[in-house]
Amino acid sequence: MKHTTINQDRFIRWFAAAAAYFVCLIAAYIDFGQDMGAKYFMPILIPIIAALVLIQYGTRVSIFSKAALPNLVTGTAWCITFPLLYQWTYHSVWYQSKICFDFVVGTAGFILLMALEGALFRLGHEKLTAAFMSVLNFLGLVIPFIQVTYYCLFWHCLSPASLMALYLTNYRESIDFIQSNLGLLPTLLIFAGFALFLYGCYHCHREFFRRTLAEDTTAGRMGALSLLTVAMIAAEGWYLPQTSVADLWNDVISYVNQTQEYSIGHDERLESLMIDKNMTLPTKLPGTVIVVIGESASRNYMKAFTPSFPYDDTPWLSGKFASDSANFLKFDNVYSSWSQTVPVLQRALTEQSQYNGKEFFDSASIVDVAKKAGYETWWFSNQGRYGQYDSAITLVAKTADHAEWTDDSYNFSDKYDEALLQYLSQVDPSKNNFIVLHIMGSHIYYNNRYPSEFNKFETAEGDSTVSSVQSYANSILYTDYILSQIFDYAQKNLNLQAMVYFSDHGENIEISHNPDVFSFDMVRIPMWTYLSPSYQQVMPGHTNALRMHQSRYFTNDMLYDMICGLLNAPSARYNPEQDFASFSYSFHRSNLTTMLGQHPLLEDPNGTEEK
Ligand SMILES: [Zn+2]
Repeated sequence: MKHTTINQDRFIRWFAAAAAYFVCLIAAYIDFGQDMGAKYFMPILIPIIAALVLIQYGTRVSIFSKAALPNLVTGTAWCITFPLLYQWTYHSVWYQSKICFDFVVGTAGFILLMALEGALFRLGHEKLTAAFMSVLNFLGLVIPFIQVTYYCLFWHCLSPASLMALYLTNYRESIDFIQSNLGLLPTLLIFAGFALFLYGCYHCHREFFRRTLAEDTTAGRMGALSLLTVAMIAAEGWYLPQTSVADLWNDVISYVNQTQEYSIGHDERLESLMIDKNMTLPTKLPGTVIVVIGESASRNYMKAFTPSFPYDDTPWLSGKFASDSANFLKFDNVYSSWSQTVPVLQRALTEQSQYNGKEFFDSASIVDVAKKAGYETWWFSNQGRYGQYDSAITLVAKTADHAEWTDDSYNFSDKYDEALLQYLSQVDPSKNNFIVLHIMGSHIYYNNRYPSEFNKFETAEGDSTVSSVQSYANSILYTDYILSQIFDYAQKNLNLQAMVYFSDHGENIEISHNPDVFSFDMVRIPMWTYLSPSYQQVMPGHTNALRMHQSRYFTNDMLYDMICGLLNAPSARYNPEQDFASFSYSFHRSNLTTMLGQHPLLEDPNGTEEK
């Protein structure tokens, strides 16, 4: 009878400790602003509390006792470190699912260490096991420790860019880095700290031994420890690759692999690109050519392309079309080849198109062509640099003679596009320059894309500014201003001969540009060119072809060939039938497609007879 009461008391204590662990961590996440949400923590509530009760039953060690402290610290470090440092760096929310994975991985790690320790101590070898467990705690803390150290050095959490830098750093550079950033004495202090930590752990683990061995081994206890060990290893195997840190790591690895694949063939491709320099634009007409890649701009919501659109969001461009139509050519029927950035741009920037079946990794790019034609090449981007959303574009960008990003940190830049303007002052006006500018344009959320001076069109009361038509129009208005600044600077300072603006894809203001819910405004894009009077004199053929094609239909995956045409740089890697700046251009509304061939342009309900 007495025995049963003791067991009941114990069970209540274990249960209370398990519940306290769960509630404290959930409360901590909420408190520092990274709430994982009930949707994620409710399904794991019962399994985690059950496992925490079971581990106390199996080891006879309370999870909040000194004996469990090293394992508790190791586990919770994994739960907390990334979400907390992310919050401190960005002051914005991280993915709820990722927070949940971090929580599960940290907690499972904690339980696994406890189960392992309980089982090992049953085999004897007190000191050896205590030392072994201390080393495991140390190793388990290496990754959280690197994150915290990085944060303390730069006041910034690890990002794909910084992890890339760490990944590419060799042993010698690491030593240099530690010496220059820390100095000898602090380094020694850190090592002394490690030793002290190991000693502390060792001391706690011996306490664990005494508690566990205070009661006899039973089949039930050993069964619980074995079960938990197997279950927690399975949980780690499944969730560890999905944690925040593993995600960063995967981004870096996939980038490095893709770079290798693209780069292996790059020299060969460049070699095989034979362009007769005597014929090219820079030889005949020195100066600068600029390509601006827009983001999520749909011509449906731009006054210059759709006069019935109620907001005057393109004052500069509309003015140029009206007063300078000899030099500014507007193209009315241009579409993107897909509704998301990377698949579109990997085609627009290279030979690959919907129509030729070429592979990205075998294709020359506009940067290659510009180089071979005789230009110094520049790439300035206000978009992200690493990760699955950027890699292909970055690969092309990095082949330029000069490539810079305004923001190295995350997938999306939070800087306004004006951050790009300063880079133009680096360009040497006495040289022949080919400049690509990749802007953030009208990427969701629209209200984050422009400074307050451009908040001209006000969102109706009660609507969200995040995704309103008015906010979208403001972002287009801001892009109009940015384009005017680029044009004015280049015309005044860089001997501008040609400029091309096109958007990667369009936008549906209600549902953004998700290919799963396709609508045609997601692919109706703006495109225009500026050709200087001297250009028009030197290249009358390309000028007239473009002028003749202003109402013709075109998809932006053929932009590569159009650039080859503009630069008068034909080669074996050029197809004049895809060149919008050539009279050989042979595509029509009837044989063009979008969404990588899924939708013929004939399906567009707004489409009109081709002139
Ligand atoms: Zn895009």
